Amino acid sequence: MSSSSGKTFIVEHLDPELGPWSELEYIAIANESQAEGSTFILSSLPPEFQVPGALQSNAAFRAERRGVEELYAADKSRVCLLDPSAAKDLSPEDGETFDVFLFGGILGDDPPRDRTSELRKKGFEGRRLGPKQMTTDTAVRVTRIVVQDKVELDKIPYTDFPELKFSEHESTEMPFRYVKAEDGSPIMPQGMKELIQKDADKALDDLF
Ligand code: SAM
Repeated sequence: MSSSSGKTFIVEHLDPELGPWSELEYIAIANESQAEGSTFILSSLPPEFQVPGALQSNAAFRAERRGVEELYAADKSRVCLLDPSAAKDLSPEDGETFDVFLFGGILGDDPPRDRTSELRKKGFEGRRLGPKQMTTDTAVRVTRIVVQDKVELDKIPYTDFPELKFSEHESTEMPFRYVKAEDGSPIMPQGMKELIQKDADKALDDLF
């Protein structure tokens, strides 16, 4: 295995519970990690955390009660924090310097609340994935394309703030950057579009 493959992606779970959106994102990260020969660790999990069924059978996935600081106490320099406020953008060469990539397990918010700062305080070296906020699964996907496939950040096809159309009269704009699939659609976890539609319908029902 070359130094650029077989990376470890750690998502430090920072939300109090595992909501349905995060669950779909984590399942997508685990499936892609298994397919691409990487490891996915979900760290800092509360004791009552129940590993979803779809993750239990995934050989690339590991659930951890310990936080990243404890896991990599002796070897902090191997860990790169993906940080929207970092001064330097991620590059394929970073795949030679780091073999662990750390992300905030935070749902995207608009405007961004900078909760990644909780990880920045721990002193890991940071890299940015360009100027736009990505969902956590997109951030992991883009990092893998850069450090494992060695594609420059600005050569990846993106779609920014895509509009999801549910019907002729119903659509939602997503305030994030996604990787663009060949058919032009944003790459999203399986089941996410349906969940977004369900939440939008519920928000509308609650208004009446
Ligand atoms: N609004 C958020 C915050 O409070 O920091 C951003 C959360 S984002 C949905 C989840 C994680 O994806 C971040 O903690 C970060 O690790 C990664 N991420 C997303 N967009 C990024 C970017 N443009 N550059 C670097 N990391 C990014």
